[in-house]
Amino acid sequence: MSRDVLAINGGDPVRPTLLPYGRQHIDEDDIAAVVETLRSDWLTTGPKVDEFERAFAAFTGSAHAVAVSSGTAALHAAVYALNIQPGDEVIVTPMTFAASANAILYQGGTPVFADVQPDTLLIDPEQVAAKITPKTKAVIAVDYAGQPCDYDALRASTEPRGIKIIDDACHAIGGAYRGRTVGTLADLNTFSLHPVKHMTTGEGGVITTNDAEYAQRMRIFRNHGITTDHRQRAQTGGFFYEMVDLGFNYRINDFQCALGITQLKKVPASVARRQEIARRYDERFAEMPYVQPLHVRADVAHAYHLYMVQFETERMSRAEIFKALRAENIGVNVHYIPVHLHPYYQKRLGTGRGMLPIVEAAYDRLITLPIFPDMSDADIDDVVRAVRKLEI
Ligand SMILES: *Cc1c(COP(=O)(O)O)cnc(C)c1O
Repeated sequence: MSRDVLAINGGDPVRPTLLPYGRQHIDEDDIAAVVETLRSDWLTTGPKVDEFERAFAAFTGSAHAVAVSSGTAALHAAVYALNIQPGDEVIVTPMTFAASANAILYQGGTPVFADVQPDTLLIDPEQVAAKITPKTKAVIAVDYAGQPCDYDALRASTEPRGIKIIDDACHAIGGAYRGRTVGTLADLNTFSLHPVKHMTTGEGGVITTNDAEYAQRMRIFRNHGITTDHRQRAQTGGFFYEMVDLGFNYRINDFQCALGITQLKKVPASVARRQEIARRYDERFAEMPYVQPLHVRADVAHAYHLYMVQFETERMSRAEIFKALRAENIGVNVHYIPVHLHPYYQKRLGTGRGMLPIVEAAYDRLITLPIFPDMSDADIDDVVRAVRKLEI
């Protein structure tokens, strides 16, 4: 049998155009909802913000949802709600987008990195327990790739000490852990509405919580630290407002929330299609011992924001595999460079290689394969063919 020549060596790529790793899904009803709001009286904080927050709270089964301008703003608001201050330590996973840890620094807290479990790359509850000190105020867990962390195990070491948990659930809307929905797993749960995520408002974010006081604090925080917003003042006919703390302009607007309302309805279908794509990948990669998908625990519903594999081979480096797959027009990526290896963190906190051996070893073998609801079965075949072509 003649061997297919890799595109990187001059062969034909498996497909003529680049398949991205993720992509938004926008229908006519999404467009109509935005246009309708543009014709209404409210462009910024108006009735659509309330309506979206109520719908999001109901979807996740939380008492409160607070919508903000990005997932990063959501993390910042959550850290603020917990009153993290200089001198406080917050334990965080290194296997995440930098924003998860940056939010701690925004409030003057100190990020403390805990290593991950080797099979799931989720924060390891035993490593978290080992990093707790009298200064520890919170843990930021990330439901990496869309798989919820082991919150019962995390709570066992944190709850008795009054340490709170933030779930950075930016990958995991529509997922579940032991029958509980993502959005209710931690004291505060944060979501991103960026176009590569399950649903989008262009840019946007949400925090869910069952704690009314946290919700109120975050509503003030997103509006400069001011106690009433413009719309509430219009309703009461008053001019009076007070700034009670230093906040930010982290508001989301009404046409974004109009989009959020229609997008939210599509999350179950998006998650179902992502799970279907993952199942097909799993089946095909079972025949290729050099491709190891991340382990999925039996007690979760995985939301599959990302489909991550590790390449178990000495014949090609991750950099070579990445280049070869890109040459085949497969839009592979790497999620993530562990946060403690970023130059800023190395300089500011003195972190670096050797500190977290499990996440560092995983990172060296990690590749993100395309997964998004509009991917066709032919697209899945292209990815599988490109990986098989490597013959490593
Ligand atoms: C996307 C993402 C964020 C940041 O969200 P933005 O909306 O881009 O600010 C934070 N944490 C994780 C894990 C993410 O995937």
